[in-house]
Amino acid sequence: MTGEKVERNINCRQALHRVYDFLDGEITPETRDQIARHLDKCAPCLRAFGFETEIRRLLADKCRDKVPEELKTRIAAVIDHEDKARAAVGGVTEGAEL
Ligand SMILES: [Zn+2]
Repeated sequence: MTGEKVERNINCRQALHRVYDFLDGEITPETRDQIARHLDKCAPCLRAFGFETEIRRLLADKCRDKVPEELKTRIAAVIDHEDKARAAVGGVTEGAEL
């Protein structure tokens, strides 16, 4: 027992949230590690969204100055979409947004 409380295995959704926090500038080395570890095991999840290459580059390159706004927007959209999907399951009826 190391007493380590940090989850080693995070799921795809958690990974996305962490990536977003990372892009927002709030990240700990542990979180960074979690994202990298997740990518190693689960590349398809981020690849599916087209994030993998960019995230890997950002993780490797500690500099966040070059974080593309578009990437943040895309990740935010995915997270937002998932949150809405969950809200919908909860019985919230959203009006047609079209
Ligand atoms: Zn995944």
